[in-house]
Amino acid sequence: MVQEVPDTQENMEICKKFCGPCPTFKPNDLNTVKPHALFCARGASEKPAAEIEDRGCNCFACPVFHKYELKGGWYCMHSIEGR
Ligand code: SF4
Ligand code: SF4
Repeated sequence: MVQEVPDTQENMEICKKFCGPCPTFKPNDLNTVKPHALFCARGASEKPAAEIEDRGCNCFACPVFHKYELKGGWYCMHSIEGR
């Protein structure tokens, strides 16, 4: 079951190590648009998904992804499914 991810500094620090180097993150300037990162907790980027070029997703390697038994990935584009 998908669990809610807490929007904490601890999770943000983990996220930076995975969303940060993600090939979709920097080229689309997602760091400059709210909520900047931790999309699995905060929801999708305010940049419309149609304007984000998908170059892959690092979420699948992220400890937060596994701890909260997330599915799907690409939360910057699509938020968490099933909410
Ligand atoms: S949510 Fe996934 S696709 Fe989006 S920036 Fe983070 S790792 Fe990349
Ligand atoms: S699962 Fe993705 S959005 Fe969530 S903390 Fe990890 S890298 Fe960031």
